[in-house]
Amino acid sequence: MIIKKKCLPYLLSIIFGISNFYLIYKNLKKDNFSEVKIEMPQEYKSLKTILERLAKYNYLGNETIYFSINSGNYANWLAEEIDICDQGDCTFFKGLNPFKKQLGEKQHEKNEIVRQSYLLGNIEASASPNNNIFISRASFKVIDKRKDVLAFIVAHELSHILDDSSFVNSLQESKEGFNLNKKNRELLYYEISRNSEMDADKKACLILFNANYPIKTCTESIKFVYKESGDGQETKKDSTHPGFIERIDSIDQYEKDLSIKMKNEQTFDIGSISYDPEMNFIKYEPKKLRVKPSIENF
Ligand SMILES: [Zn+2]
Repeated sequence: MIIKKKCLPYLLSIIFGISNFYLIYKNLKKDNFSEVKIEMPQEYKSLKTILERLAKYNYLGNETIYFSINSGNYANWLAEEIDICDQGDCTFFKGLNPFKKQLGEKQHEKNEIVRQSYLLGNIEASASPNNNIFISRASFKVIDKRKDVLAFIVAHELSHILDDSSFVNSLQESKEGFNLNKKNRELLYYEISRNSEMDADKKACLILFNANYPIKTCTESIKFVYKESGDGQETKKDSTHPGFIERIDSIDQYEKDLSIKMKNEQTFDIGSISYDPEMNFIKYEPKKLRVKPSIENF
């Protein structure tokens, strides 16, 4: 017993000694010998988890798609307000990386713009014809725990890319509006855009349905987004997006149609999703399929 009592502190000191030595070695290794690995921000982690689920149950085309989280339009407005834009063009500020400290000229203003955009900005997502999807960081703050809403938004933007919405809309406008006057052609452009938005909602709803989200996610997501933006307005002729009631009616009807449809049980190889902190994006590279699934499967 006496021997045991005397041995205990000695044994403990050896154990701590070894662990201390190990910690010193580990920190030294981290500081001097290995590259510093930047952890993926929580927002990108959420995005990646959603994308994996959507890609597992849906054919998402065979092209690489980039997802970038930016500072959003609020940053543009703030920059305009304090008048620091180059030649009056403030679009640069929207693209500021919200996960990085801004350095160099006007760094205080830039950092403050990024901070306030996160704090005050709203849900904002867009897709460009060249396969980029942008989501403001503030979107993640507003959406918070409603990851199903985020999934709907991601699926909606994916649908624009998969359907080549910008090109298809432009082509339709050109075919139907080539002999219209400027005003009527403009109205045609808005009408085509609004229809395209409702088509993207439906496709997003189908993507979520296939990925086993509850069917009501579609209407709930649209309600959530409009509510958070404080917008309950009716459809306007000069708007690219439908008003609240029209959009809800359209998706509500589609949910009813889907509820009596057989679910596509097909699963897909999700390909690869990689994070690039310097470029501030995640890159989705689908597995190339030899045979394209039929449109019915989508
Ligand atoms: Zn859209």
